[in-house]
Amino acid sequence: MSASSRFAPMPDANGYFGPYGGQLVPPELKQAMDDIEAAYEEIRQRADFQEELASLFADYVGRPSPIFHAKRLSAQLGGAQIHLKREDLNHTGAHKINHCLGEALLAKFMGKSKVIAETGAGQHGVALATACALVGIPCEIHMGQVDIEKEHPNVIKMRILGCKLVSVTRGAATLKEAVDSAFEEYLKDPQNFIYAIGSVVGPHPFPKMVRDFQSIIGNEAREQFLARHGRLPDHVTACVGGGSNAIGMFTAFLDDEGVNLVGVEPAGEGLEIPGRHSATLTKGKPGEIHGMACYVLEDEQGNPSAVHSIASGLDYPGTGPQHCYLKDIGRVEYATVTDQECLDAYMTLSRVEGIIPALESAHAVAWAIRTAPTLSPDQHILVNLSGRGDKDADYVANLLGL
Ligand SMILES: *Cc1c(COP(=O)(O)O)cnc(C)c1O
Repeated sequence: MSASSRFAPMPDANGYFGPYGGQLVPPELKQAMDDIEAAYEEIRQRADFQEELASLFADYVGRPSPIFHAKRLSAQLGGAQIHLKREDLNHTGAHKINHCLGEALLAKFMGKSKVIAETGAGQHGVALATACALVGIPCEIHMGQVDIEKEHPNVIKMRILGCKLVSVTRGAATLKEAVDSAFEEYLKDPQNFIYAIGSVVGPHPFPKMVRDFQSIIGNEAREQFLARHGRLPDHVTACVGGGSNAIGMFTAFLDDEGVNLVGVEPAGEGLEIPGRHSATLTKGKPGEIHGMACYVLEDEQGNPSAVHSIASGLDYPGTGPQHCYLKDIGRVEYATVTDQECLDAYMTLSRVEGIIPALESAHAVAWAIRTAPTLSPDQHILVNLSGRGDKDADYVANLLGL
């Protein structure tokens, strides 16, 4: 763990990272958020909670996840060495289980009767349904009917895992409507229900709490890299949707000024086409969404704009408040990768290393593939491989006619 970080006290007592974050919620939710914060502050300092979480990370998730040196890929590119932090090897196949376990344990500690969430592609839904099955707490996931038809394997998994899946048919029947529907259910009884947010977004304390649960990634990676190489990597990169896997990786390295941190946003079909990318930090401006102040992509009317990415886990018109702050102070650089570059990286990593990455994670891989040839072979790039790509295999095969 990096000691005495000047970033560790973030956010402040009101949940702000500089001008971003906060708790921009209706008065009837303020108490519920304060209760969650108080409960979280209590359990995070309790040895029994930390021990339970640590033993689940080890025996249930399979942590620590290894770091793999992608030697063949590095040699082919003829530049820097590329290393992969294998969050794809976690139980359920991605980093999301790290914070879903934390949230489920918190819900149980608070005596909540139901955990509620929305899901888009179903990744958050599956991870949360898994954690709730393990902890033994009822779970209700809201999902747009259009997404339910598209994401069959995840829908089936959620049903097998025993969660209540609510099909949302209003409007466009996708993620936005699912959020609205889940939120309405939560508002019926915020004292007894808890809304489990799926990334480092939303009102305080979620950006902080989800970051803390995910920071295991960077804590492990920093130690593993030092032990093996006797030095830190030169560049550390991760994809950014809401920003949880990236902040989970970056937190341990924030004080290491020599380590260049790079968040990769989806440029989709092109940054110049409004509505066809999801590069919030690159193209958005400070605004407000889902209970927090952060960079937002807006349309001409000032509403959150339509967004697109080939990776459905990355298409969100806001982003985590800590990322906004880290961009403004220049500690993290935010780059972009197009759908095409992502697809190329998905195939390259599969065929050169035998690792099929999630399309989300393939954005970070694509940045490494683009950057490695500009560096020398004694430099090191550490990529957070946030998840595995089985979920995307049918889609990619159709697209490429495989
Ligand atoms: C959901 C997801 C993401 C995007 O979420 P962040 O909060 O930005 O990390 C990235 N990778 C995978 C594999 C995901 O499932």
